[in-house]
Amino acid sequence: MQHRKICFIGAGNMAGAIISGLVESGYPANMISVCAPSTTHRDALAAKYGVQSSSDNNGCAKAADVVVLSVKPQMMADVCKALQKDVDFSDKLVLSIAAGVSVARFCELLGDNLNIVRIMPNTPSLVGQGMSGLYAPEQVSQADRDYSGELMTAVGKICWVDTEEGINHVIAAAGSAPAYFFLFMEAMQAEAQRLGFSAETARMLVEQAASGASALVAASPDTPLSQLRENVTSKGGTTFEALKVFTDRQLPEIVSEAMQAAITRAQEME
Ligand code: NAD
Repeated sequence: MQHRKICFIGAGNMAGAIISGLVESGYPANMISVCAPSTTHRDALAAKYGVQSSSDNNGCAKAADVVVLSVKPQMMADVCKALQKDVDFSDKLVLSIAAGVSVARFCELLGDNLNIVRIMPNTPSLVGQGMSGLYAPEQVSQADRDYSGELMTAVGKICWVDTEEGINHVIAAAGSAPAYFFLFMEAMQAEAQRLGFSAETARMLVEQAASGASALVAASPDTPLSQLRENVTSKGGTTFEALKVFTDRQLPEIVSEAMQAAITRAQEME
């Protein structure tokens, strides 16, 4: 991948995950800088990965080819207004990983026709197993799209969407999704503990069942998920009885409603 000079504004979990993936995949650490007001997180990233650390957002952004906006959405307007005073974005690529801040809003904040890619990663990026959705408006060149995709491939898989609304759909299907699985696993662990297993054993049972199921899905790319389910469900057997409870309680409808709620919230934030 091309090695452009890249600056992260914000040194939180997600910036840290991307920096870790980049450095581990061979991106030169001396081409990466990370900015945040407090030293705690950025200095930890600097110590761990050898990247530059600074409190000077504007100075770092000015010197960079690529600016990754990785602050919380509610901080974004203030951070961008301060950057805009000093930095000419016309020759830079801007990447935003924030939910709920639209391309139109970034153009208002940083300049018309901004060269921007919106990225929606998820927390498994922290362990290199992320799923990121990417959207770029038409002014973004193919070279910049390729660069953005390669960057996020350092922390997992990527999926391009053709419309900005698609980013909200990625939020529902992947961005927020780890928490759906955590909730499910939490409920299973609690029931396993009620059955008498220790917390540790209950967690191991659930964790291994989940990662085993996920590995089986990954190893069977041509098998529909419904087939994998049917393969382990004999009529009248134990799995059949368990799944009947889920279908009687309309699990698919619940999942659909939950994903729609995530989309509605993302739309409200824009
Ligand atoms: P975080 O709270 O861990 O990190 C935010 C960082 O911004 C901190 O390092 C903070 O010091 C820094 N910051 C605050 N004010 C600043 C300023 N004025 N200038 C520079 N830095 C400043 O948050 P996070 O979980 O890493 O999330 C960052 C972004 O990623 C958010 O916009 C969030 O929507 C997005 N995102 C997060 C996830 C997730 O699962 N964590 C998933 C997808 C997208």
